[in-house]
Amino acid sequence: MADDQPTEDVPTGYWVAFGYQNHVLPVPADDAPRAGTKVAALCGVLVPAGEESERDDRPVCAWCSGEVRAGNVRLVPSPS
Ligand SMILES: [Zn+2]
Repeated sequence: MADDQPTEDVPTGYWVAFGYQNHVLPVPADDAPRAGTKVAALCGVLVPAGEESERDDRPVCAWCSGEVRAGNVRLVPSPS
């Protein structure tokens, strides 16, 4: 794997809050309906689609924030 991947190849995601923490949810590759399904944050924590809310003052997930800091995901505005 090369270190010089163009930024366009970096997956995108956005901060959401669920459970006890804020997590980053990857942006789905398509617009497939998510109703009734579970979606996984970067760290692998699952949340039923639609139960996440806007980022708030909960603690941030160490794994998700680490991925953001490492540049493994590009933050985009929440689609909601
Ligand atoms: Zn997380």
